[in-house]
Amino acid sequence: MTRVRFAPSPTGRLHVGNIRPALMNWLFALKRGGVFILRFDDTDAARSTRAFADGIEEDLRWLGIEPDLIVRQSERSATHDAARDRLIAAGRLYPCYETPDELERRRRRALAQKKPPIYDRAALELTDKDRAHFEAEGRRAHWRFRLDGRPVAFTDLIRGPQIINTASMSDPVLVREDGSYLYTLPSVADDIDLGITHVIRGEDHVSNTGAQIELFEALGAEPPVFAHHNLLTDEDGQGLSKRLGSASVADFRLQGYEPLAVAIEAVLTGTSLPVAPYPSLAAISEDFEFSAVSHGAARFSESELDGLNARMLHAMAFEDVAPRLETLGLSEPALWEALRENLTRFADIADWARLVTGPVQPVIEDSDAGFLVEAAALLPAEPWDEDTWRTWTEALKQKSGRKGRALFHPLRLALTGRGDGPELRILLPLIGRRACLDRLAGRPGRRT
Ligand code: GLU
Repeated sequence: MTRVRFAPSPTGRLHVGNIRPALMNWLFALKRGGVFILRFDDTDAARSTRAFADGIEEDLRWLGIEPDLIVRQSERSATHDAARDRLIAAGRLYPCYETPDELERRRRRALAQKKPPIYDRAALELTDKDRAHFEAEGRRAHWRFRLDGRPVAFTDLIRGPQIINTASMSDPVLVREDGSYLYTLPSVADDIDLGITHVIRGEDHVSNTGAQIELFEALGAEPPVFAHHNLLTDEDGQGLSKRLGSASVADFRLQGYEPLAVAIEAVLTGTSLPVAPYPSLAAISEDFEFSAVSHGAARFSESELDGLNARMLHAMAFEDVAPRLETLGLSEPALWEALRENLTRFADIADWARLVTGPVQPVIEDSDAGFLVEAAALLPAEPWDEDTWRTWTEALKQKSGRKGRALFHPLRLALTGRGDGPELRILLPLIGRRACLDRLAGRPGRRT
């Protein structure tokens, strides 16, 4: 059984870059009928809030991600403590008393001697007496994981065979002086406890994987399979987190983007699959393979998202949007079909619909007033269809001698109050004869 997790820290809302791993996990779970766990990495009590966690759930739901299980690391300390104690008993976790200043001095000394600036493991030499002495001074230990120094090899589902040389790394601190945990130990302990089979996350975690695999093994567990994807950057190649506000999921939602368009842009950018409309996340999951994820940067483009969003709207059938149209009081299939091609965001429909339903403020130049009187007189009798526009304007052309822009533009300005918009051939029958007559005479012309 495939079990994956998306593990955000609830210290802010999700931005488009951090929904990429969420979506990759979700697509993978969907394809394999697996379990998707939302794990809040909320052990940093000072920065994590319940409100951010709830917001993240809301962001995911909006995107169409429904976790099978939600867990919070803050409620799982028994699991973390048990892992800690097991590591201490196995001699893999050892207490250290260096202050940050001491560590910094040693680091500089090592650099000056052209040695790698890694922790020298001096604390492994401490005797019980030394430790008692530090404790008596009021120092509290932080705890490091003793790496075993052999290169760690694993096969990444995206990046292929990897070797992490942990000998060039400092033994990582897993437990702080106050007994709280840094990210690594709770993450591995929970992955074990929750039976995670695949860890899918950003490539900023590749180098952490070496120590994590050693931890899985030290805790008597088989490591999961790893897949590290390229990170989304902005169009200049800069990390997205710096501009969190502007690319947050909540913001896209407020701006009225289609969630599926945001999801497609976030997950398919930087893959060999086209950033193109798909009917659903399930449909993407059928095509999505880790082998499609490129090894280069994935550049998120807001203009590409705009284009995709528009294309998706233009192709939507009335039935797909009927409930949303209903909330705007626009339940007419013909109206949707006439207007959808003008939309970049769904909410634009309300403005375009007003051109049909009125009221509009007709724009009538003095020089066109007589022409519009002629136009009104020639308006055909109903019923109207999409040929009515041509019949009418042909007759008007004969009568007035006008053609081209001089013929069409004053009609558009009078009928819709603006110089651009959907084709009048399509709008005319929707507006109807009565409202057209009103507008040609300069009145707001509400449709009845
Ligand atoms: N909380 C970690 C992060 O957001 C999780 C990383 C992981 O997936 O292991 O970076």
